[in-house]
Amino acid sequence: MTRVYDGIIIGSGHNSLVLQAYLAKAGLDVLTIERRAVIGGGAATMEDPRFPGFLHNTHAFFQRAITSMPWYEDLELERHGAAYIEPELNVVLLTSDGRALEWWTDFQKTVESFAEFSRRDAETLQRWRDEFVPIVQNILGWEGRSPPLPPDQRRALLQRSAAGRRLLEVSELSPIEFVHREFESPVIQAGLLFFNGLREVDLRERGFGHHIAALLASPSKAQMSRGGTAALARALESAVREAGGKFQVMTEPKKIVVEGGRAVGIETRDGELIRARHFVASGLNPQQTFLDLLDLDVLPRAFREQAERFQYNLIAPLFALNLNLREAPKYAAASHRPELDRAFMVIMGLDHVDQFPDIVRHHEAGTIPPTVMWGACPTLFDPSQAPDGMHTAFMWEKLPYRLNGDPANWDRLRDDHGRDMLALWKQHAPNLADSVLGSFTRSARDVERCLPNMREGDLLVGAFSRGQIGYDRPFRGAGHYRGHLSGLYLCGSSSHPGGNITGLPGYNAAQVILGDLGIKAEWAPPSIADRLAGLV
Ligand SMILES: Cc1cc2nc3c(=O)[nH]c(=O)nc-3n(C[C@H](O)[C@H](O)[C@H](O)COP(=O)(O)OP(=O)(O)OC[C@H]3O[C@@H](n4cnc5c(N)ncnc54)[C@H](O)[C@@H]3O)c2cc1C
Repeated sequence: MTRVYDGIIIGSGHNSLVLQAYLAKAGLDVLTIERRAVIGGGAATMEDPRFPGFLHNTHAFFQRAITSMPWYEDLELERHGAAYIEPELNVVLLTSDGRALEWWTDFQKTVESFAEFSRRDAETLQRWRDEFVPIVQNILGWEGRSPPLPPDQRRALLQRSAAGRRLLEVSELSPIEFVHREFESPVIQAGLLFFNGLREVDLRERGFGHHIAALLASPSKAQMSRGGTAALARALESAVREAGGKFQVMTEPKKIVVEGGRAVGIETRDGELIRARHFVASGLNPQQTFLDLLDLDVLPRAFREQAERFQYNLIAPLFALNLNLREAPKYAAASHRPELDRAFMVIMGLDHVDQFPDIVRHHEAGTIPPTVMWGACPTLFDPSQAPDGMHTAFMWEKLPYRLNGDPANWDRLRDDHGRDMLALWKQHAPNLADSVLGSFTRSARDVERCLPNMREGDLLVGAFSRGQIGYDRPFRGAGHYRGHLSGLYLCGSSSHPGGNITGLPGYNAAQVILGDLGIKAEWAPPSIADRLAGLV
């Protein structure tokens, strides 16, 4: 007997789960299929098989403002077991001469830290924050939680308000132009460009100058999930199941079945046909969705070409060193700054803004630059992620996918590079010399093996670049969560507003799918066009 659901979602990343939960709560019978044995995609936590009880978050760890996301409350995730921690000393950049640039949840403390490097920069920080808070609150925040507008319509609406015009004006710059024009301390400039890189924005690309200003004004700080990032996936899964949603793991689609120009189900690799009355939504990347899963005769040439052109890794992907520890890292700089013992995200190897052009050159050449890395010791804030009294810690570095021209080189050189990272870490935290019980590394190639939608290990599931953002993500014609066939939708990070744990592609796709089915989404925000038009 062929099984029939109202809808089928392919891939169980957190965006798919957010979508499924809203649809199931609206009364639809929805099945999600997943190729792995576990639900949640990059919202993953694994136990080191050689060291029982040591948990590692091998993909996402730092999650920005999850507790303020609309779906977090709508889906009652705390009732389903989610809990978040937001450490006060949120980020610290340790310089090689023992100084520390600090970002606190308390903005005034951040201003004081900036002032230690430059009084003028501290004032600039305050000024940009004051100017951009309303822009973040009234424009950028809402744009992230709404299906995107066509660029011309967006621009015309933004031109009508002072805040909108200011946003357009600042956007014209590239991040590096913004930083050099506004700030003077090379450490502060470096720290700001680092954050820009964390969000995967090319520092040279015009059109992204507002990113750093938005970051300075954003109330969203890095948070971590108690119990590991997988706890978020478990809470979402529980919300889905409670609403009647279903899962089928270790299942891959062979193709999306199309009849009469409409997506009507999937055929699995095991040969099973599963039918969908209303929709098939893909949480995968555009190459998988359009090129791998659709027959050529139902794929218009323009769509095929655009899907083929979809790009990954504008900036290099991540390499990870993970440690099991007898004790937490103790930073030498904490001898005169005790707060560093409770720092959340720690950045090392970055002293000067002029390091960036060299890093970019290395990434483009496929070689390893002098190490700039960042990470955390999760167990300082959540002891449940290691056995009693023990710790886990990790460092990430952006390194090219094609190492010396070939990604396969990573399998040979991975552990050597992990040793180099540990050497730098020990310079800042000498106690690591005696406290490492075990370690492992993961390259972008390992990421891709685990989650093939993250092609070339791209954690955003597609570069965040002009032509691949907003209405044009993944490409024009598919940037509205709808494919070219009726009943076919996109809901993963290759759609607006992109990758990282935000849940917003899934949240926005839910608005579009429910709208197309004529089901009112009481929880949906007012239209973004009306909101922008109402600004003065
Ligand atoms: C090393 C690393 C560190 C990261 N750190 C952070 C961080 O600190 N903060 C942050 O916010 N984000 C981070 N990310 C990014 C974050 O993990 C992703 O952007 C996010 O998981 C994407 O969510 P998604 O819902 O779009 O899909 P994914 O989480 O990628 O899930 C996609 C799902 O689809 C499944 N799938 C793939 N192909 C198929 C197929 N053919 N058939 C069926 N199922 C399939 C996969 O198995 C997976 O379960 C990191 C990523 C990496 C790799």
